[in-house]
Amino acid sequence: MFSFLNTTKSKILHSLSQRFFQLVAISLVTTIVFGSHQSWAGDDKPSWGYGGASNPSQWSEIAPEFEACELGRDQSPINIIDPEQSEQTSTIDFDYQSTTAKVVDNGHTIEVQFEPGSSITIDDEVYQLLQFHFHTPSEHTIDDKASAMEVHFVHQNEAGKLAVVGILMNSGAENPVIASIWDAIPDNNKAQEVSNMSLNAATLLPDDKTFLSYTGSLTTPPCSEEVSWNLLVEPIELSPEQIATFESLYPYNARPIQPLNGRSVDLN
Ligand SMILES: [Zn+2]
Repeated sequence: MFSFLNTTKSKILHSLSQRFFQLVAISLVTTIVFGSHQSWAGDDKPSWGYGGASNPSQWSEIAPEFEACELGRDQSPINIIDPEQSEQTSTIDFDYQSTTAKVVDNGHTIEVQFEPGSSITIDDEVYQLLQFHFHTPSEHTIDDKASAMEVHFVHQNEAGKLAVVGILMNSGAENPVIASIWDAIPDNNKAQEVSNMSLNAATLLPDDKTFLSYTGSLTTPPCSEEVSWNLLVEPIELSPEQIATFESLYPYNARPIQPLNGRSVDLN
C-alpha cells in the first residue's frame, strides 16, 4: 500500500514535471516565433545563422518558406570525390564588365552587388551577375578537405533560374582585388549598402576555367533548389591577414555538407 502510494505520488510528480517542461517548451517556441516576427518587422527576413538556436539544423523551423533546408533532396554544399569526366562537356563563357558595385555587410556575409551588364553563358543560356559573397571556411570540400574561404558568384537568367560559380580560396599571396573590397566594407553599419566602387568581377577569376558542375541549392535559407552549381577547379589566393579580416566580421559562415542522394558531379 505504502509503495503503491509512493508510486502514485511519483507518477503525479512525473506528470507535473512533464507538464512543466511542456510549458517551458511552449514558451520557448513562442519566444522564437515572436522573436522572428519582430525580426521580420525590422528587415523583412526571419533571422538565421550558423550557431546557437538558429544554426543550420534549425533553419527549416525558423520559417515555413525554409522547409527545403530540411526536406530538399538536392541540397548544397557537397563534398566532391571522384568527379566524372563529362561526356558532353559544358562550357562557361565569362562576359564580366567593369561596372558600379556596392559592398554590403548583410548580417550573414560581405556581399558585392553589381549593376546590370556582367553575365556568363553556360551551354547557350545567359545568366546575369547579381552579386558575389564570401564564406569561411569553404562550403564545398574536395576529398573532405575544406579551403580557407569560398566566393560565390550568383547569376540569374531571364526565367529566374540561378547559376552560381564557386571558387575556393586558399591562404597564400595577398589578393589586390580582395584588398579593395575589404577596404570598402562598411564600418559597424550592417545591412546598409555603401561604398560604390568600380569593379570588374573577372579580376577575381583564376586563369583555368575548368569546372565541376552539379545541380544543387542555395546554401542559405530558403535553400531553394534547381540551382546550377559550377565550382572552378583552380583556387585563388588571399593572404592570412585578409582571411583574418573577414573572420573578424564572420568567424564561421559555412553550411555543413549535404547528402548527394545519387547526384552526379561532372568535370568539364
Ligand atoms: Zn554562398
